[in-house]
Amino acid sequence: MTGRIIIVGHGMAGARLAAELSARPGDRKVTVLGAEQHRAYNRIMLSNLLAGKVGESDVELAGAAGQAVDVRLGVAVTAIDRADRTVHTADGDRISYDHLVLATGSRAVVPPLPGLDPEALPDRVAVFRTLDDCRRILAAAEGARSALVLGGGLLGLEAARGLATRGLDVRVVHPVGHLMERQLDPAGGAVLARTLADLGVRTQLAVAATAVTADPDGVTLALSDGTELAADLLVLSCGVRPETGLARTAGLAVERGVVVDDRLRTSDPHISAIGDCAQHDGTVGGLVAPAWAQARVVAELLTGNDPGARYRPQPVVTRLKAAGIDLAAMGEPTPVAGGEELTFTDPARGTYARLLIDGDRLTGAILLGDNPSVGTVIQLFDRGAPVPADRRSLLLGRATGVPAAAPVTTPALMPDATTVCQCNTVTKGALVRCWRAGARSVGEVVATTRATTGCGSCRDAVEGIVNWLSAVDSVEVGA
Ligand SMILES: Cc1cc2nc3c(=O)[nH]c(=O)nc-3n(C[C@H](O)[C@H](O)[C@H](O)COP(=O)(O)OP(=O)(O)OC[C@H]3O[C@@H](n4cnc5c(N)ncnc54)[C@H](O)[C@@H]3O)c2cc1C
Repeated sequence: MTGRIIIVGHGMAGARLAAELSARPGDRKVTVLGAEQHRAYNRIMLSNLLAGKVGESDVELAGAAGQAVDVRLGVAVTAIDRADRTVHTADGDRISYDHLVLATGSRAVVPPLPGLDPEALPDRVAVFRTLDDCRRILAAAEGARSALVLGGGLLGLEAARGLATRGLDVRVVHPVGHLMERQLDPAGGAVLARTLADLGVRTQLAVAATAVTADPDGVTLALSDGTELAADLLVLSCGVRPETGLARTAGLAVERGVVVDDRLRTSDPHISAIGDCAQHDGTVGGLVAPAWAQARVVAELLTGNDPGARYRPQPVVTRLKAAGIDLAAMGEPTPVAGGEELTFTDPARGTYARLLIDGDRLTGAILLGDNPSVGTVIQLFDRGAPVPADRRSLLLGRATGVPAAAPVTTPALMPDATTVCQCNTVTKGALVRCWRAGARSVGEVVATTRATTGCGSCRDAVEGIVNWLSAVDSVEVGA
C-alpha cells in the first residue's frame, strides 16, 4: 500500500488512474497535477467536436476522479527530485510522494519548416492534440472558406473530414505517395483518396512542405515541387512524440518513451509511467485502450488489491472517426514471412479490404467502405480464432455459399470472450455478467463496465446486447 501518490498529467490515462484508485478501498492521498486548464476530457472525441457532431460539454469525462482526489489544474510539473521523492511545480510548489506516476502523454510534432516556431505558431496555424488546439482551429475556421491539412494519417484525415463537414474547401498535403501508408497499401490509399474526394476533401500526394507563410488574412504553404497552396487556415498533423522530458531530466531510462516493465515501473521503483509516454516491451502507446489497461494495473498494484497484476498488451483495433468513411485497421501493417496477403479493391464503390494471415490466424486487416464482415473480422482478430478456409466471405463481406466457419454478430451466438468495447476492453461476457448482477438499461451497463465511453463506436453493439438480454429475460419470465 502506498500513502501519497502523485499523478503527473490529467489526460486520458492520468484521469482514469485517479478514478481507478478512488474506486478501490484504502487510505491514501492522491494528487493529480495537470498542465492543461481543463477538467479531464475525452481527447478521442475532439475529432467529433471539430466536426460539430458533439459540443464541448459532451467531451468531458464525467466523474473522472473521485472526491478523495486532489486535482490541480493548470499546474505543470517542472522537475522530479528522486532523492527527496518530491516534485516541483511551475507555480513554485514542492510536493512529496511515496509513489509517482507519469501520465504525461504525447505532444504533437511541429515540422521544422521555415515560418513555424513550435512555441508560437501563427494565428491561422494549429496542431490538433488538445481542447485548446481544437478551439483554436474552430476559431480560425469561423468565416473561413478553405483549409489545408499537412499530414494524411488517421488524425489528419479526421481533421480534414471534420472541417469539410463544416463547409470548408479542404486539401490534404501528404509527403508519401498514398494516404495512411502505415495502414494502407497504395491501392487502398487510392480508394480512400477517391472516397474523400467525393466528400469534398482533395488530396495532394508525394509532395513535401518546404515553408509556411502566415499573416492575419491567410496561410501559404510552399511545396517541394515549387508550387504554393493558399488557404484560410493550416492544420499540422505530422505525428506525435511521447512527452518524456521530465523523466529524461530526472535520469530515468528513456528510449522512445519512458521504459517500463510489466508492472509499469520505470527504472526507479518509486515511479511508474502509463499511457502515451510509456514504452513497454519496445512499444510506445498512442491509443487509449493500452493507456486505460495500464491505469488499471497500476491501481491494482498501488492499492495492494492485486499484487500479481501485470500489463499484457492486447491486440488493438483502430477506426477512423469520419462521417461517410468506414475504416477499421488492426494488427500489423505488413505480412509475416511466408504469410498470406489477400486484398480486394472496388474503387467505384469505395471498398477495399486487406487481410494478412499467418497459418489460419489474422495478423492484420484493413477494411474500408461498407463491408458487413467488419464485426466478424474484428472478432477473429481479437480472439486469435481461425479464419474460415474460404476467405472470400471475409474479404468481400458476403456469403460465398461455403458453410460459415466465422463467428456471427448476433448477440446470442457471439462468444463471451468477444471484445465489444475495444477502448475499455469490455467483453460480451462482462456485459452479460453486469446484466445478471442487476443492471437493467444501457446507462446502467455503461456506468458499471464503462463500455462506450472511449471512442463510442461500440454504442450500437452494446445497445444490441442489452436489448437482446432484455428480450431473453422477458421470454424467461413469461415462460
Ligand atoms: C483528435 C484525436 C483523436 C484520437 N482518436 C483516438 C481514437 O479514436 N482511438 C484511440 O485509441 N486513441 C485516439 N487518440 C489518441 C488518444 O487520445 C491518446 O492515446 C490518449 O489520450 C493517451 O492518454 P495519455 O493520458 O497518455 O495522454 P494525454 O491524453 O495526452 O494526456 C497527457 C496529459 O499530461 C499533461 N502533461 C504533460 N506534461 C505534464 C507536466 N509536466 N505536468 C503536468 N501535466 C503534464 C498534458 O497536458 C496532458 O493533459 C486520439 C488523439 C487525438 C488528439
